[in-house]
Amino acid sequence: MSDSETYEIFALKYAERTNRKRVETFIRDDEHNSPHPIDYFVWVIRNDNRTIVVDTGYDSKEAARRSQPIIREPREALAIIDVDAGAVEQAIITHFHYDHAGSLGQFGAARFHIQEAEMVFATGPCMCPGHMQKSFTADHVCQMVQNVYSGRVEFHDGDAAIAPGITVHKIGGHSRGLQCVRVMTKRGWVVVASDAAHFYENFEQRKPYAVVVDVADMIKGFKRLYELADSPDHIVPGHDPLVLERYPPFRDNLRGIVHRIDVAPAK
Ligand SMILES: [Zn+2]
Repeated sequence: MSDSETYEIFALKYAERTNRKRVETFIRDDEHNSPHPIDYFVWVIRNDNRTIVVDTGYDSKEAARRSQPIIREPREALAIIDVDAGAVEQAIITHFHYDHAGSLGQFGAARFHIQEAEMVFATGPCMCPGHMQKSFTADHVCQMVQNVYSGRVEFHDGDAAIAPGITVHKIGGHSRGLQCVRVMTKRGWVVVASDAAHFYENFEQRKPYAVVVDVADMIKGFKRLYELADSPDHIVPGHDPLVLERYPPFRDNLRGIVHRIDVAPAK
């Protein structure tokens, strides 16, 4: 598949947690009790030929279930840039954690691109009650299984081309079948890391994130991000509030809500 097409990429913030500590981000960090806020995003990859959503976030129902606030539903965030969730034809789900694979029902026309390994992991023995299942929500996983049976899931195993100039790459580490997304833009290959790197500090300093299935895969994944991106400035972490400081808002009145990540970041 050619990479002749280029895209705009949008990061849309739909939730945040400000009462969070570094211990929740880093393993064996020296400043465990320092504050460490986190942002929650979905992403849109768009050009004249197609619009692809990366992750579906979580909705108000999930927010209530987890007593975790939400600023706006992902579909409301999408509507701000004229993307109708119900009309989206292709969605890449980076992994099945509740904040990435919720609100699937609002994407009634979508075909979902997932890694085989994530489905196996999310329906396998590690999901028996206990530590590993905490980041997943059974309803989300069941909805994805239903989508498999109705022919709306495209499985990938490793690296795959989704469209000209858009590829996915299995990283693992944080979740067994986690994939990042690489997108050709006017400035070259940008990598939407999702949770292959939650924060800049994770990949820049090779610090594993505290929610992890395989630390070795996670650390190898940091290196993979550098290989896939045209430069370190082309790697966009999945939850870092700094993304909204470094990249420009789509429009002035959308600062803190919708930012362009296909363009070069400010230093
Ligand atoms: Zn995650």
